[in-house]
Amino acid sequence: MSEAGPILHLEGVRRVFAQAGERLEVLRGIDLAIRPGEMVALVGPSGSGKSTLLHLAGLLERPDEGEVRVAGEATSRLNDDRRTGLRRSTIGFVYQYHHLLPEFSALENVVIPQMIAGVARRKASMRAEELLSKVGLARRASHRPAQLSGGEQQRVAVARALANAPRLLLADEPTGNLDHHHADEAFALLQDLVRAAGVGALIATHNLELAGRMDRTLVLDDGRVKAG
Ligand code: ADP
Ligand code: MG
Repeated sequence: MSEAGPILHLEGVRRVFAQAGERLEVLRGIDLAIRPGEMVALVGPSGSGKSTLLHLAGLLERPDEGEVRVAGEATSRLNDDRRTGLRRSTIGFVYQYHHLLPEFSALENVVIPQMIAGVARRKASMRAEELLSKVGLARRASHRPAQLSGGEQQRVAVARALANAPRLLLADEPTGNLDHHHADEAFALLQDLVRAAGVGALIATHNLELAGRMDRTLVLDDGRVKAG
């Protein structure tokens, strides 16, 4: 594992969907690298392949061609168990919709991924409390997702994404469901936490103002990325 190299590196990544006999070439040769501590915006029109790219980067899907390297490790030849292990140990996700477990409290939603990773409950609870307090939700820890506002739910999702101290954070329009004020607030918290942890982050967003607050912008257009 090369510590100095990119935390995420895509080389010649192609993704083709076949739908009703039509070939849809969504990604036509993507090359990009995200270094530790760097926050990079991924922008592009709806349907340009942002989510597809993030799924490949997050090892949730495999490209048709090309290589996805995570923490220096080439993943194309890894079996599903190794890919899952690398994902759990290295990558955190924030989605547009929070995807919190509705039956569990905010605290438990941040504890559970740590316990799946083998952390003892007590230690996991302490870390969850610390993270919830960093996103301003110390007093909401026992609330279930339905008892929280959209902005609060998304802040819990940010805490959950960082629960296992990932080195790479992937976010798919993390503030897309929030109004301007709450989007701003959730993004500022995400940015603070990512910066403090030195995590590399690739964040798809429609919001060009938020993109402008990141270190650089990649524009996805016609299946390729361009520097914005
Ligand atoms: P974005 O996130 O930029 O809006 P997506 O990555 O979701 O774009 O989708 C890119 C294109 O790929 C769209 O035309 C979408 O319909 C198509 N697509 C995405 N996933 C699939 C799939 N599993 N099967 C077929 N087509 C898909
Ligand atoms: Mg999308």
